[in-house]
Amino acid sequence: MNVVYVSPEIEPFARTGGLGDVLGALPKSVAKLGHTVCLIMPLYKQVSRKEFSLLSTQITVAIPMQGKTSIGLVYSSYMPETRIPVYFIENAAYFERAEFYKDPATGQDYKDNCERFAFFSRAALEILKALGQPPDVLHAHDWQSALALTYLKTLYREDPFFLNALTVLTVHNLAYQGLFPKEDMPSTGLDWSYFNWKQLEYYGKINILKAGLAFSDIITTVSKRYAQEIQTPEFGRGLEGVLQERSKDLFGTVNGVDYNIWNPEKDKLIPSNYSLKNLSGKKVCKRHLQRKCGLTAPTRLRDKDVPIIGWIGRLTEQKGVDLLLEGWEELMGLDLQFVLLGKGDLQYEEALKAKASKYPGKASVNIGFDNRLSHEIEAGADMFLMPSKFEPCGLNQLYSLKYGTVPIVRHTGGLVDTVDEQVGFIFKSNSVEEMIAAIKKALGAYANPAQWIELMRRGMLQDWSWDKSAKEYVDLYQRGLKKKAAQ
Ligand code: ADP
Repeated sequence: MNVVYVSPEIEPFARTGGLGDVLGALPKSVAKLGHTVCLIMPLYKQVSRKEFSLLSTQITVAIPMQGKTSIGLVYSSYMPETRIPVYFIENAAYFERAEFYKDPATGQDYKDNCERFAFFSRAALEILKALGQPPDVLHAHDWQSALALTYLKTLYREDPFFLNALTVLTVHNLAYQGLFPKEDMPSTGLDWSYFNWKQLEYYGKINILKAGLAFSDIITTVSKRYAQEIQTPEFGRGLEGVLQERSKDLFGTVNGVDYNIWNPEKDKLIPSNYSLKNLSGKKVCKRHLQRKCGLTAPTRLRDKDVPIIGWIGRLTEQKGVDLLLEGWEELMGLDLQFVLLGKGDLQYEEALKAKASKYPGKASVNIGFDNRLSHEIEAGADMFLMPSKFEPCGLNQLYSLKYGTVPIVRHTGGLVDTVDEQVGFIFKSNSVEEMIAAIKKALGAYANPAQWIELMRRGMLQDWSWDKSAKEYVDLYQRGLKKKAAQ
């Protein structure tokens, strides 16, 4: 099969969250199963042309955008240590910005996001035509690339080049739907006839994710539990009806981990490697993290082995930041140290900084996106807190398992599919009391070294590599193509 991945983020080129990690790993695993794979993403300013040796392909795509023509120059590189091509669409006006989606000065989404990603999605189809490689599967990710599927089935539906292509959309997070005022309709290049409640329209607005769902043969999301949850009003964000209607074509496949990157035995970003057989390196990582983040009290005063709780993630409502803020004083009253790395909503960033400033030496709040520090936290912390309100899959709990950093998670979405009482601590409802109770339980277990090592051991032995999930995706592609051929 010839499988094409279209995505706004791909690790290691550009990433803000789990979507990037998935695109950095799934295509490689699918290629290993014997399929031809390529990827397409925007050429953001942040993608290092030098580091990744980007070359011009000499391909230029010209996309009609509201009476003008927007040009995209196409560059290429490879996924690291493979011959899997990655194509980058360059358009300075659209993609050379301070951040990918938001203006950091205002914290607001860029006003022309609809136009930017409509351009990207259509350019992706044009690149494929210029390369002359008809896809068997066009697999788009999240709203930013969803229109590629819509275009394939509308503007390009008569085009023999795409005739046999299966359209697949993976929803990594239903909270991001690409909602725009209807005045943006011309920037999609689609006829107003598609602005109806079955396709693009959503309560008077344009909903790009909905447009993708309407035109995909297969819909997937990133855990089995979340696939069920999003068909309910509580998690469906207004699209539960659409998803219920498509339930026969909707599948959940849990994300995996790229153990070439997230593996304490060979991680190059941590001060000492370690394994289940020899955990001494984890202590080195812990001391390093304490030094780096200025965590001194109460270690200096009392027990040298006070546990560190780590937190890494986007600072959004989804991740349960409100619970953390509400439970802060109680948390700080416990015998532990706390280190957080995150970036996101300005009010959360400010509130967390203010809270941490009252607990120097005990709490370290680091605002920003810092890949090295994220590895150092996974390796150096003893526990990892994820009190998510909802969680499509979550990756940090999987990384934590591998690093012997015991997860404390809320029972929702992918956290249900991946963490049980054998390897972590779980609390059911979205409540501070339950979160603190779970943390206290973890502290109790930590005080018993034999019990703790056993918890770590069980987690470290688990295998969340991509092999199994990649096979599930390939199986979905194959079944989808078969069904399509029979129609
Ligand atoms: P989501 O996709 O909802 O953001 P996931 O748990 O699926 O959450 O994936 C988050 C990924 O992004 C992980 O690889 C995590 O380490 C990384 N990450 C999130 N925030 C930061 C940050 N501030 N600095 C470095 N890495 C981060």
